[in-house]
Amino acid sequence: MDETAASVIPTGTGHREIRRNNLEVVLRHLSLAGPDSRASIASRAGLTRSTISRLVGELIDLGLVRETGPPQVQGIGRPATMLELDGRHVLAIGAEVNVDYLAVLVTDLAGRKVYEQRRAYDAIADGPGHSITALAGLCREALGTLAGLRVGRQPIVAGLTVAVPGLVDAPARVVTLAPNLRWSGVPVADRLRELLQLGPAPVSVANDASLAAVAEYRVGGHAGTPDLIYITGEVGIGGGIIVAGRPLRGVRGFGGEVGHMRLDPSGPVCGCGRRGCWEALIGLHALLRAAFPGGPGQHGGPGRHGGPGRHGVPAGEPPEAKAAAVARLARAGDADVLTALAGIGRWVGIGAANLANVFNPRAIILGGYFTLLADWILPPAARALIEGALAPDAGGCTLTTSSLGFSAAARGGAIHVADQIISDPAMLDSRSRPPAS
Ligand SMILES: [Zn+2]
Repeated sequence: MDETAASVIPTGTGHREIRRNNLEVVLRHLSLAGPDSRASIASRAGLTRSTISRLVGELIDLGLVRETGPPQVQGIGRPATMLELDGRHVLAIGAEVNVDYLAVLVTDLAGRKVYEQRRAYDAIADGPGHSITALAGLCREALGTLAGLRVGRQPIVAGLTVAVPGLVDAPARVVTLAPNLRWSGVPVADRLRELLQLGPAPVSVANDASLAAVAEYRVGGHAGTPDLIYITGEVGIGGGIIVAGRPLRGVRGFGGEVGHMRLDPSGPVCGCGRRGCWEALIGLHALLRAAFPGGPGQHGGPGRHGGPGRHGVPAGEPPEAKAAAVARLARAGDADVLTALAGIGRWVGIGAANLANVFNPRAIILGGYFTLLADWILPPAARALIEGALAPDAGGCTLTTSSLGFSAAARGGAIHVADQIISDPAMLDSRSRPPAS
């Protein structure tokens, strides 16, 4: 089952199922369409006014819906009280472990961000066990802060979804293979669950790019674009593909690994061990290699283990600091760096053209470090996209950068958790309170 998809209206027969379905219909409508009246929801859902009033009453009692503002006149008839999604006490936690950082982002049920923290972290040096412990520590800090959240009700942890750059067996809650983290068969969700003791709140794991694509589709600059592809811009390059409004996953949920399209079989070695994958040509390490060809020891580039370099970027900085160092040199007109960025941009466009030929998306959205270097990467990439796409004008595909930056995957994790509550709000009754820090 597709866990990251926006749910369709479910079917069910038992009384509980019907009630659950109806509650979901109301919540999902308010979540996707915004504030609305009981009468309008009733007519859109094909339910009676009295049924909607009863459902809304339940949801108000749960704190998931609230009446808002003075009554508004809608067409003919008496003014209607508007309803909106509430759930300010519902904490949906998105987390991420990536090669060089950890992140936690918490929203309420309506997607309002209530907490965000990202921290530079060397996940390769520390290995999976320590990395998961460190991520749990970051989550604990968030929960400690949010335990004091004053929203009229005691905060409830709805769940946690962790984003990982690799192949994820979602039903087993296991990272099957994450080459850049050097993880294989890591039960990250179960381990986080043990460490955080979240009680019945579900902890799940998903591919970072898939979650980021859902975040783009739901809250990004291209929200609502039904055919889009999100490309991560980290050490690894992953893809999240939304087709006709639904994430593409494939038979085992391993779809979207666009970073391992092999564009140059005699090219540089990829983190997966093959040569010439797209990731080896445009990932963050490819950028740093191209911009600082001597490596951190010789030319002072911002390497992972090097000391402060020629450009003033200490090791252990998050990826945006490394990209910012490249941007500073580009802005200063450093010829080598400008040549490197033009080369990366061309490869970005060549890969994007392949994707445009296969999927005919409306938008290919570049995330991560690309957002900081768009001025130099997008122009050559757009030219290569047009050149490489069979369809005129790249089939209507726009190549652009994400407005969500490095937060996209964690944001997608929080959306995934909130979606689970919207699908079955009664589950909240048994959810845990944030443990005291
Ligand atoms: Zn590869």
